[in-house]
Amino acid sequence: MCSSFDDSARADGALGTSPTRRALWNLRSSEVATIACPTCGAARRAPCRTLWDRPTTVLHRGRTIRYVKMRFALDLAEPHERPVRHRAAPPLSGPGLTAAPAPHPQPWRLPLHELADLVNVSFLDLAKVVTAHACGLQRTGLDELLFGPDRIEQSIDALTYAMHDRQIRREVRVLSGGRPEEIEDLAAQERAVRERLRNTERRLKRQRIAELTAAGILPFPAPTDDSRRLARAWLGRYLPDEKEALVRRLAAGKGLAPLATVHIRSIPEKITRCIDNGWLAAPVTDAVHQLLELDGLAFRRRIVADAAQQDARDDALCHPLVLNRWRDQLTETLAEMAPSAENAHTKHLHDLTLTSRPRSDAQLRRLHNRRRLFAVLLQRRSESVRLITSLNDGMSLAERHDPSYELLKQAGDQAYDELVRRHPDLYRHIRNHLARYETRYGRLQLAEPRGQLRARIYDELDQMRPAHLASPARR
Ligand SMILES: [Zn+2]
Repeated sequence: MCSSFDDSARADGALGTSPTRRALWNLRSSEVATIACPTCGAARRAPCRTLWDRPTTVLHRGRTIRYVKMRFALDLAEPHERPVRHRAAPPLSGPGLTAAPAPHPQPWRLPLHELADLVNVSFLDLAKVVTAHACGLQRTGLDELLFGPDRIEQSIDALTYAMHDRQIRREVRVLSGGRPEEIEDLAAQERAVRERLRNTERRLKRQRIAELTAAGILPFPAPTDDSRRLARAWLGRYLPDEKEALVRRLAAGKGLAPLATVHIRSIPEKITRCIDNGWLAAPVTDAVHQLLELDGLAFRRRIVADAAQQDARDDALCHPLVLNRWRDQLTETLAEMAPSAENAHTKHLHDLTLTSRPRSDAQLRRLHNRRRLFAVLLQRRSESVRLITSLNDGMSLAERHDPSYELLKQAGDQAYDELVRRHPDLYRHIRNHLARYETRYGRLQLAEPRGQLRARIYDELDQMRPAHLASPARR
């Protein structure tokens, strides 16, 4: 498979080396680490921290970019996004600079520690290496380097990029009448990368499930068939304000800080609580504040600007408080762009050659550019969805591991019992209604969706109480 991978990688403009990227070859993670990280706040010379505040061998891209810009004042735009204007390479001699080795056309042949450093600082080189690996390259330690817990998500991102890249280049060659061998090579690489991507996504999912299972979060408990527990839970849901006040009072009695018992009404509130409690390491920097305050149009410009470059990423978009907006805006932008990119939907990049019609060279070039941008937006959306998933996992894990979790659970349990004591009539009414569905004492077998039954019971409870006491759960 992919026998001529090396040749086509060398001939490949989009993934090849270019004068303006030469400096990256001489960059070391240890040099990047001499500046503080603008993303995670890691101090100078300290490793970056994950969202769960663990040290990671991966550098935040924002840190690398800031370092590179400071040191070389480089233009890091993608080769295919750059205006066709040949500029001289930036001067690389100067105080503190070591001699730059010539760019390696096959980075996967570098000593492993150099390779680890390279993929740390250069996304496009990571893309080259994961592609070579997908096409059959084997090497001791490479699998762990690319798909170990530190880098698996970046490698998935790089595989997504490489898959789109091969597909679009194949499409262009098919539509403009390229050489059949070249087209077959690109198609083979595309297939290999696609398969590796799917495998790696499954691997990531297995890792998540193992971690959540070890923490006791998975499997989710089945809905209770105990009518006493269900009646208690529905009473609490019917009287949410009273229940929350009780939980807070009982939790305070157990010595829990108010911060740990704040009732959460929205996702941003939940994230903020996790940051405030120190469960997530995600400093809300000036860059994040500015991003949060942008209006729709300015935010849109920001995500398109980020999509226009692969090696220089906008880390602020990955901040937990920005993630949901980023994903939603990406989806909207994709929907608007789909017709001009000739993509029937926004789920993935469909194969243009299956519905080809004649086009002039100029039309083809324009379409090619649109599809490049469309593909990157798809890649970014996948990234945002992965980040949201891991954020949610992380918040669940953090809550679960915090000492407040068990105490809060006890407080919740006691609050339900107290509500039953305070409102025996309401509780009894729910129990009596549920009794119709009991197969034996206390065991339920519901014949209709729970939500429907609950709504009917809440209507009846409202009628039992004065109008001004109707539950906010029903409003
Ligand atoms: Zn960092």
